[in-house]
Amino acid sequence: MKIGCVCGVAIVDQTDYLPHKAHLVADQDWEDFAESSQTLGRIDQTFVRHCYQCVSCGRLYVDDHNRKLVRFIPEAEGARQTLGSIKGTLWKAPLIGAWTSDPPAGKPSGALFCAGTNGVAEQYDTWEELEQAYFELFNRLKGMGLLRSALLRKGGAQIHFWLHSDR
Ligand SMILES: [Zn+2]
Repeated sequence: MKIGCVCGVAIVDQTDYLPHKAHLVADQDWEDFAESSQTLGRIDQTFVRHCYQCVSCGRLYVDDHNRKLVRFIPEAEGARQTLGSIKGTLWKAPLIGAWTSDPPAGKPSGALFCAGTNGVAEQYDTWEELEQAYFELFNRLKGMGLLRSALLRKGGAQIHFWLHSDR
């Protein structure tokens, strides 16, 4: 899904863990939402609406009760990161390394991506370079407590997988 902000920038909603998106539950629904989610054993999405912020101009787009987006302009300059994690720079991000032998035209075969504060979006021409960069970043971010998961894939094969656990 894409929202065309009036400033000309597109707000894209195509992956998880977006820093410019939030989930909204009305205070009037809060207790029903909590009770229903507990009964279901998962988040009851029927109570959840969405909210987006333009990373360029800071405008907020909020679903009303009919799930129609309503637009708001921030009064303060620089208010463009309002909807990110409450953990701030300590948010745990997923790390993904992917190698394909058949990349799209003009793209390298290897990609390394992590959306956290200390994250990266890099591309590699050889598997060895990608593998080395993946494990260097994995060890560094894991050591800093900034990873929630890590996945390295080569074609269809899973080479490495790690999941953060509090237990
Ligand atoms: Zn905008």
